[in-house]
Amino acid sequence: MYSLDDTIAAISTPIGQGGIGIVRMSGDEALPIATRIFVPQRPWQGEPASHYLHYGHIVDPETENVVDEVLLSHMKAPRTYTRQDIVEINAHGGIVPLREILSLCLDGGARMAREGEFTLRAFLNGRIDLTQAEAVADIIRARTEASLRVAVNQLNGSLASEVKEIREKLMHALAYLEAVIDFPEEDIPPQDVEGPLEEAARDLEALLEEAKRGIIYRQGIHVAIVGRPNVGKSSLLNTLLRTDRAIVTPIPGTTRDTLEETVDLDGIPFVLVDTAGIDETDNVIEQQGIERSRTAVQQADMALLVVDGSEQVTEADRQVAALCVDKPSIVVVNKEDLPIVCRYRDILPDAPHITISALRRTGISELEELVVDTVLSGRIVTGETPVASNPRHRALFRRALESVNHAQEAARRGLPADFLTIDISEAVDALGRVTGETASEELLESIFSDFCIGK
Ligand code: GDP
Repeated sequence: MYSLDDTIAAISTPIGQGGIGIVRMSGDEALPIATRIFVPQRPWQGEPASHYLHYGHIVDPETENVVDEVLLSHMKAPRTYTRQDIVEINAHGGIVPLREILSLCLDGGARMAREGEFTLRAFLNGRIDLTQAEAVADIIRARTEASLRVAVNQLNGSLASEVKEIREKLMHALAYLEAVIDFPEEDIPPQDVEGPLEEAARDLEALLEEAKRGIIYRQGIHVAIVGRPNVGKSSLLNTLLRTDRAIVTPIPGTTRDTLEETVDLDGIPFVLVDTAGIDETDNVIEQQGIERSRTAVQQADMALLVVDGSEQVTEADRQVAALCVDKPSIVVVNKEDLPIVCRYRDILPDAPHITISALRRTGISELEELVVDTVLSGRIVTGETPVASNPRHRALFRRALESVNHAQEAARRGLPADFLTIDISEAVDALGRVTGETASEELLESIFSDFCIGK
């Protein structure tokens, strides 16, 4: 499915108008194809210098029309991103010249690259491991500086080397146990197995703990902003975003759909979800909005329950509050600029309460602090940037830890070596999947299909 032999091409910069745009090719034919469509200012004598920029024009070989004025870079294998020959054509950023250059490359024999295929080649050719390939996607998608640091950390291979170290420890123990099983009559000097197992378990626990924090930076925290109509949810969203994204009107129930926006609070990306008010109503559209709110709360990591301090608590407030009982929540008593008639102390009494005015923007920074504290709840934010941040990795660490714990148990109970080797092999396999040493084609497919074309 993933052939490495053909030459792939793609527009590697975002579609749209920009100062420059890049068409990239990777493979043995990259340079021959480029040579047929590129006319250098100073004619090349034989093969052009590698890792240099060459100035010239792209010319359609059939019509001899000049397509664009470009800078072409030729990077000869193996010191390249994919470890294959790469040609990059820096053209003007409009979509028309880029498409035309790409189609000339395809006419010349290149194949359109699939999502993430350049990075996939880097992985398959051993230049990077799977965690580094995933880091490339994370870097592109990083939403805050802290998320970017986590991704860059992963790109430099620190996670992979930690994982490999644990894996090697386990493989060493496994090799010894297998030797004991396979050659019972040989005099194999006894080796400590429980020690390495214990170390592996400890390291995996640390990675799992770190991943908890890393995943927050990578994926962000989903915050559902809920409350009955007209309490000021959309106004609060706008205040937190400092833009006018949601439509604010004095008519109840105007927020018919959910809106999502990301804000950076202390480096953590918070994805704010504004929901329609939850209220008993006959209106069909409103009813759909309510269902969305219910779902939004269920899917969120935490909830901001907005109530109107200038009005008495209503049955609708209680109904919305009921949705939040199992979520980390904050009760936001809004409209403090008006005379406050209710403090809502008996609404979610265990959750922190804060009084603000979304309209006048008072109490907002205190609310932001409270949101961050609620998420981290004692977890340390400062200190080292976590290297583990990917839920896929976390699931595999868990599996590896379970297997190691089983093996430890078997060792403690003095069970035969076979029992241990099964569990240890499973742990070794799970860790191999993290770095890609034992990756299946489906796994690669699912990871790389998440990339954009040209990466
Ligand atoms: P939602 O239905 O909960 O999203 O409420 P909106 O954000 O649409 O606000 C409903 C009405 O309350 C609008 O007229 C807002 O201007 C008003 N409002 C929102 N926040 C405040 C506030 O802090 N003080 C006052 N006085 N009015 C507010």
